[in-house]
Amino acid sequence: MRPQTDTDAAPPADSPAADSSDAASGDAGDSDDAASGDADPGGAAPTDHPAPATDPPEESIRVLAGECTTTFSGRRERTQRGHVVVVVKPDKTVLVHDAEGYQPIAWLTHADAVTVEVDDPTGAADGAMGAGSGPEDVGADAEPGADEAGFGVTARADDQVLRVVSHRSAGWIRFPASAAGVPVGACPDCGSALVRTGGAVACLGCDREHGLPDGGQVLDAACDACGLPLVRVRRGAPIEVCLDRGCDPLAERVRDLYDRAWSCPDCDSDLRVIERGGLLLGCDAYPDCETAFSFPSGPVVGRCDCGLPVFRTGGGRRCLDGSCERFEAAGDGE
Ligand SMILES: [Zn+2]
Ligand SMILES: [Zn+2]
Ligand SMILES: [Zn+2]
Ligand SMILES: [Zn+2]
Repeated sequence: MRPQTDTDAAPPADSPAADSSDAASGDAGDSDDAASGDADPGGAAPTDHPAPATDPPEESIRVLAGECTTTFSGRRERTQRGHVVVVVKPDKTVLVHDAEGYQPIAWLTHADAVTVEVDDPTGAADGAMGAGSGPEDVGADAEPGADEAGFGVTARADDQVLRVVSHRSAGWIRFPASAAGVPVGACPDCGSALVRTGGAVACLGCDREHGLPDGGQVLDAACDACGLPLVRVRRGAPIEVCLDRGCDPLAERVRDLYDRAWSCPDCDSDLRVIERGGLLLGCDAYPDCETAFSFPSGPVVGRCDCGLPVFRTGGGRRCLDGSCERFEAAGDGE
């Protein structure tokens, strides 16, 4: 599989970008056909599946195995037969793996629709398999050829159709699935692992989830009050706050540091730290003066000729007033 790196830095494994880069760096040969035949669907299809920050733990991945014919139709037609494993993800991504390499022989990411049909003499039909499936939920005997039951998986995205039909089923099963991320501690509610996925920290055991503040770095330290990890953000100065804003609001910490620290460039009243959607520095004379600036994410590194602070942000150094005309003259020398 792909190298284990910081998964937050890597694109999601099922993203179109990941597919195409994998295809480009993958082994030459047959798999390239599958890749080029299928590199488009994820990108071309309108993906109304905003990747949730985390999948609720009750979601499941279905795995079906057997000797199958796999047909991909669309821009390219391709039929392959062999002993494969079919992975159906909760986001309607379908992957068909054979015995070699990390790359599926065929796949559709974020399909519009996925149908899984199962002939099941034991009655463990698709919908009946529970989230906590154990081995007893395997739908067919593991011995090839010993079972009459078969399955079919159909995934569609626009004009592309991926269809897998078993000739001899080796079985199928459902496993609980979630987003995977860098572990950052334990959930104070249920004790399960907390993981950082995208812009959030989510629990693998319950539905607890907290968004990370912009630029937030999860620390290896827990909040004294609630046990959640602490997060370091830079709002002027480095500030360590609890991941739970309700427990330890970032706005109050910023207010302690910077309320009335600077003056309005238009009327010289104090600038107040206020929270309206995000953090703002707004003029105390409001509504007579409507001057307000969003609080930049980054450290204060100096003072502009206009009197306002200079921040170093991801986009470079800037005056608190992003449209300040006096900044350039004073800015670069510091
Ligand atoms: Zn939990
Ligand atoms: Zn806390
Ligand atoms: Zn003002
Ligand atoms: Zn300025």
